[in-house]
Amino acid sequence: MNNVVLVGFMGSGKSTVGPQLAQRLDRPFVDLDDVIEADAGRTVAEIFSSEGEAGFRERETRCLQRALESSGSIVAVGGGAPMRDENWVRIRDGNCVVALIAEPDELARRLNGSADRPLLQPGAPSVIASLLARRLPRYLDADMVIQTDGISPAQVAQRLHERLSGGGLQRIRIDVPGSPHDVTVGYGLSHLVPSALREHPPLVVVSDDGVRRQYAQPLIDALSGAGFSTRLHVVPPGEAAKTLAVLSGIYETLAAAGVDRRGALIALGGGSVGDVAGFAAATWMRGISYVQMPTTLLAMVDSSIGGKTAINLPAGKNLAGAVHQPVAIFCDLDYLATLPDEEYRSGLAEIIKAALIAERSFADWLSTNLSSVLGRNPAAVREAVARAIAIKAAVVARDPNEAAERAVLNYGHTVGHALERAVGFGKIRHGRAVAWGMEVAARISLLAGACTHATVEAQHALLRNAGLLADRPAVPHAKLTDAIRHDKKSQSGEPRWVLLREVGRADYGQRVDPLIVRVALDEVLPE
Ligand code: NAD
Repeated sequence: MNNVVLVGFMGSGKSTVGPQLAQRLDRPFVDLDDVIEADAGRTVAEIFSSEGEAGFRERETRCLQRALESSGSIVAVGGGAPMRDENWVRIRDGNCVVALIAEPDELARRLNGSADRPLLQPGAPSVIASLLARRLPRYLDADMVIQTDGISPAQVAQRLHERLSGGGLQRIRIDVPGSPHDVTVGYGLSHLVPSALREHPPLVVVSDDGVRRQYAQPLIDALSGAGFSTRLHVVPPGEAAKTLAVLSGIYETLAAAGVDRRGALIALGGGSVGDVAGFAAATWMRGISYVQMPTTLLAMVDSSIGGKTAINLPAGKNLAGAVHQPVAIFCDLDYLATLPDEEYRSGLAEIIKAALIAERSFADWLSTNLSSVLGRNPAAVREAVARAIAIKAAVVARDPNEAAERAVLNYGHTVGHALERAVGFGKIRHGRAVAWGMEVAARISLLAGACTHATVEAQHALLRNAGLLADRPAVPHAKLTDAIRHDKKSQSGEPRWVLLREVGRADYGQRVDPLIVRVALDEVLPE
């Protein structure tokens, strides 16, 4: 998992570029042909002559599985390996796939006189032409495609190194029954979006006014380049996007663009755009495909994952909504470069929450690497985002409709939402409200005997060091408890709590004595 896998025709340079790239990235290099030869005790040419191509392919599949069990390696695989569907699924699973390609004449020149390529004998040029035609479509499905004509292997390795500097990309599967899909996390992902939409339906990209100016054009260019006819629909930034009037405007554009049941929509923006555009996709013609391209940290690790979509009504926030899973999610971390600090921290609160409820090792990693994440170091951001997504993805896959376990993701949100409601939506950032909500929830957990003082302290240190506890909100408790009673997750006015057991483990659906809640509020958020 999380290997960089080099694919491409023989002569494309995988075995030369691979070790140079491995050296630059300080990672091990594995050449699949070497693994096969070591396993068989014979050369590839000898295997072909004694067992034929069928025998070689069996060995290749077996050795590929073994080679990809490791993590963090640069793995070069033979030119024919990706052609077996079973191998291709394995190559893509959690790994970054890079195709090295070259024109047939260049390949013929590089392979001239090569006697150890069984499939090239005899008549190399015509064999290259016919084999390449069959294999190229699969190579072009890689995450990155590097044209190697006219550049040296060292230059190819250098280009790849630059593009992989944030740690490459990572794919996380969300195995929701009936609609499994991938989240791709990395830098510069626009070129991958067309491959998520196999056919060429009419497309509407929904974005907000701020995001559109910075980021819509490269995406639209990538889609047009792949033959899509695309229309852009712009909505107001922030919460103002989540209204009936805006939703109705999106429907009008879908109609004008001729989007029918086979059509699709792309949400390019933060959680507000994702929520309204996702709701439009959920309801247009009783549900069409859509892709989430989150541009805020919060949207990447939280709102784009799990298929919840909604708009606000005068009666309350997120009151009209649907669960509708996207067909793909692309978290392009390049977008985060322009995100204001406050928005960035808001997403960080959800990352810390994910670690606290589900993965002690991730919480430890965050404690050590928090300053790199805050400083937006590319590799640290990628790791933090991918790990937080993996946690939410696993929970969502087990409980897509929030019948039970998904409630654990609401850790800190009972008081967080109540704070937002009591202070007034938009007056306190969601992440800060959730951070204070987690502080109250941890204190309740302690008072209820669910966790130790050390656990509360560990959480406190993480949130404080992330700068999420800088200003303590002062809110009358009567307002807070009233808002808690009206929380959507309350049952007959009685809230159900997520309690922290230890760092990395929490329980959902817990009843708590109201006296304990009052004491915790007094201690954490004195009036
Ligand atoms: P947002 O979408 O409201 O965006 C906030 C601001 O950031 C906007 O002005 C926007 O233009 C700007 N922005 C977005 N990307 C930017 C970028 N890359 N660079 C610079 N500016 C950028 O904020 P959000 O926090 O992503 O989303 C909040 C919404 O998400 C709320 O409506 C909330 O209810 C919803 N939400 C939904 C879920 C869910 O499961 N569906 C979960 C959590 C939150």
